[in-house]
Amino acid sequence: MATSFKGNGIVPGVAMGPVHRVLKTLTQSPIVADSAQVLAALDRVALDIELQAKTVKIDSAKTILDAQVLMARDPMLIDALSIAMSTDAKLLEVRAILDETFSKFKKALTDIGGYFAARTADLDEIFSRLTTQLTGEPPQEIVLTRPSVVIAGDLSPAETAMLDLKFVLALLLPRSGPTSHTAIVARSLGIPVIVGCDDIETIAEGTEVIVNAREGEVLLSSSDSQYLLLQQREEKLRSGGSFRIGPCHLLDGAAVPLLANIGNVSDVSVAVKFGAEGIGLFRTELLFLEREDEPSIDEQVQLYVQIFEQMKGLNIVVRTLDAGSDKPIPFVLATHEQNPALGIRGWRLTRTNNEIISRQILAIAQASKIVNAGEDLVNIQVMAPMISSPAEAKDFALRVRAAGLQQVGVMIETPAAVLHADKILPEVDFASLGTNDLCQYVMAADRLDTRIADFSDPWQPAVLMAVSIAAESARKLGKPMGVCGEAASNPYLAAVFIGLGCTSLSMSPFSIPEVRNFIERLTMVACREAAVAALSSVSETQAEERVRNLLSHPDN
Ligand code: PEP
Ligand code: MG
Repeated sequence: MATSFKGNGIVPGVAMGPVHRVLKTLTQSPIVADSAQVLAALDRVALDIELQAKTVKIDSAKTILDAQVLMARDPMLIDALSIAMSTDAKLLEVRAILDETFSKFKKALTDIGGYFAARTADLDEIFSRLTTQLTGEPPQEIVLTRPSVVIAGDLSPAETAMLDLKFVLALLLPRSGPTSHTAIVARSLGIPVIVGCDDIETIAEGTEVIVNAREGEVLLSSSDSQYLLLQQREEKLRSGGSFRIGPCHLLDGAAVPLLANIGNVSDVSVAVKFGAEGIGLFRTELLFLEREDEPSIDEQVQLYVQIFEQMKGLNIVVRTLDAGSDKPIPFVLATHEQNPALGIRGWRLTRTNNEIISRQILAIAQASKIVNAGEDLVNIQVMAPMISSPAEAKDFALRVRAAGLQQVGVMIETPAAVLHADKILPEVDFASLGTNDLCQYVMAADRLDTRIADFSDPWQPAVLMAVSIAAESARKLGKPMGVCGEAASNPYLAAVFIGLGCTSLSMSPFSIPEVRNFIERLTMVACREAAVAALSSVSETQAEERVRNLLSHPDN
């Protein structure tokens, strides 16, 4: 048996304790019900979830539960169930009919892929609650009686939100991807979380393990000394638990603003706590992923004001809706696309849903006026995603400036934007490199496809070359160009980006202390050497290895 397991750590942290495996067995008792009883039970399921949504405290969990209610009330699901029950129903086949109907729905979601595929867990949750309702069995509860490292293959977002946190030392979610809803909720719990660690389900109940979520690693060990070492290291990386705030500088004094990526109101306080100097990317689409209808301008203004008000004296980069591809938004009506990642997304929505973008810009401008009320208290900058041509950049800048917002910027995340950065940048005030998509488009590799994950690795020299070309154009034009893809949260890559000429780094707030600690002990010369070493490498592994050797980590 392996002694360590590797996954994708999505919330860094260290924990040690016995494993508790959440094993959910779907009830197999026969279901005796007619069509009306099935539909009534589905309605009760929706009501139950609705009630839970009212009591849950985590923002993201509430949004997810609200979405599950919509799913349970989806007229297409209701119709499909009543048709299936009325045509084939023989009393003893009810379970099979439900199973088949839900499977069809799941397949439809899986076929769409991306964000929708990750929503099948929500349908599983509804199915499980429905069968429990119909058999009259009590719902399966996750009962923890001692502090444990919880392994859960099928944990639903709702169950994640309901976990008794005083007993959860860490959460291991072998079958969740980083963009699944369960992962989104888990991220807000503030405990170490690892997703996608397939083999972990072989660990027996009660086994003592050490979880090092920063490295995405689970060790089958109960060695206190090893645990203490990892814990000390973790604390050191987090500046001894208290997070330094204020401007970040390299050893030779060069300023490198460290900013946070946020997606909702509650992220702002986390960003400030972890020492973010501002918000480098506010992904507005994350506020609306579950909305069936477009929020009114007033509603949007209220939400933006709530966020802007927490940013007094700071900078915030608000990105216009990056809907489409892996982030479809129900109210942004999209037609079927053969290649969604190459189709209508980001600023391209102006071709199909122009009014939605206009209303969003208006709402951002109104929120800015309310918060600033004559003074310049919060510096609001607006940024467009998926820009591919100077004409798009010009159009965007004109529209945002016409709404009364002065500072505009673009994401550099397509090869075209990199190659034409010298023509795009004169249209705007700043740019930000989206390394997640830059990998996807430079390497022609779907960012959600784990089979080609090596191509999505920002250490790929071709991707770093693209960063270098764009940063050089920005330098020549005297325009700031930051990085806001998650790659900036890797301290070594952060150093490389600085060496390549990037002027700020924006990342998940949790990563800021570690990046700060690491880069503050480097000089610009060291960062440039690291950049040269990475750029001249022939593979992503060689690039990483060379840079790691050059810049020794504080605890190495
Ligand atoms: C990126 O592509 O790197 C980025 C920051 O945008 P998103 O991940 O939201 O597409
Ligand atoms: Mg992107």
